[in-house]
Amino acid sequence: MIEDRLTTELAAQLQEMAAAGLTRRRRVLESPCGRIATVDGRNVLNFASNDYLGLAGNAEIARALADGALQWGAGSGASHLVSGHLAPHEALEKEIAAFVGFPRALTFSTGYLANLAIVPTLAVRGAVIFSDRLNHASLIDAMQLAKAQGAETQRYAHCDMAALEKLLAASDAPNKIIVSDAVFSMDGDLAPLPLLFELAERYDAWLVIDDAHGFGVLGPQGRGSLAHFNLPHHPRLLLMGTLGKAAGVGGAFVAGSQTAIEYLLQKGRTYIFTTAAPPAIACALSKSVQIIEHGDALRANLSARIGQLRDGVGDLPWQLLPSATAIQPLIVGENAAVLALATALWERGLWVPAIRPPTVPKGTARLRISVSAAHTAADIDQLINALKELA
Ligand SMILES: *Cc1c(COP(=O)(O)O)cnc(C)c1O
Repeated sequence: MIEDRLTTELAAQLQEMAAAGLTRRRRVLESPCGRIATVDGRNVLNFASNDYLGLAGNAEIARALADGALQWGAGSGASHLVSGHLAPHEALEKEIAAFVGFPRALTFSTGYLANLAIVPTLAVRGAVIFSDRLNHASLIDAMQLAKAQGAETQRYAHCDMAALEKLLAASDAPNKIIVSDAVFSMDGDLAPLPLLFELAERYDAWLVIDDAHGFGVLGPQGRGSLAHFNLPHHPRLLLMGTLGKAAGVGGAFVAGSQTAIEYLLQKGRTYIFTTAAPPAIACALSKSVQIIEHGDALRANLSARIGQLRDGVGDLPWQLLPSATAIQPLIVGENAAVLALATALWERGLWVPAIRPPTVPKGTARLRISVSAAHTAADIDQLINALKELA
């Protein structure tokens, strides 16, 4: 047999990753997403999902999905612009636009695809994109696509508005685009949205906000991070929200002005060249948005559990980042240390993922504790006690 040089090269790289403690493994769940996960026949408390309101396992939403499939079939059959745009998709767009207070919305199969549509589509005519250093990987990939079509990108230090203003003031680009996560996915902190909004106005820039972790959780009735800061709709503001996290289903939306959304619909390649999500997904999401709107009790429980966790881990050798959201990162430092801690928690029946570079900067490996409205006070106590034992 001829030696397969290319495969050998991949194997060597995989071995390097293993040696550096960077190999990632999938665990197979034998139960639906929820507060308890069954893995290898064992029940563990789940602090790993982004199911912040506990809606992924919600029976009403599952029923809407099943009813939707019976009424509308399994698949959409085509992309939205060909023949795959069904009545449930259309209804969901309108419901979401009204819910987040924007003139119009467009839905996507995933948040990753939504970001890949927004940034390159807007980045025409000598665009410069200004991006927070800790923005999500999907935004970074979106900027790579924009670069390939001639846009320039400039990164500013995390949430550093003075640095951003300097860059904006120094730029004479005819098309400026500011891009930021609203809630940073590995740190849990909130971007200074009012200041970003002000800078976008002052420097005549687009403002693209990724609210993957704020939609459903923050703001009155869970309307998201912009509502949390009471920021009004603006013609150059685009809001992306994912529907697979707090909304518990899957997909994403982009909300904006009539013109911006129409432009995205006409030009967004990841909107145009992909099959529309199954219509039943839209049925499930319509139900989910209703539950979110009336979900103050869920959000109150989430908020109480977050407070309980933060109060309880005060005197550990590791620090929680200053986050008020459901994402509570406990900074451990080195890869091996965070892996050992995550393994010890796992052995105690607690599933808390270890997040390592390249997802986070070197030396800041962490436990990413995800709090959910589904958790009970006893669940949080169990986690706090285990961390204290292991400290
Ligand atoms: C999860 C996430 C996305 C991607 O959304 P998917 O629907 O999972 O593809 C985009 N941006 C941020 C900040 C995220 O956390």
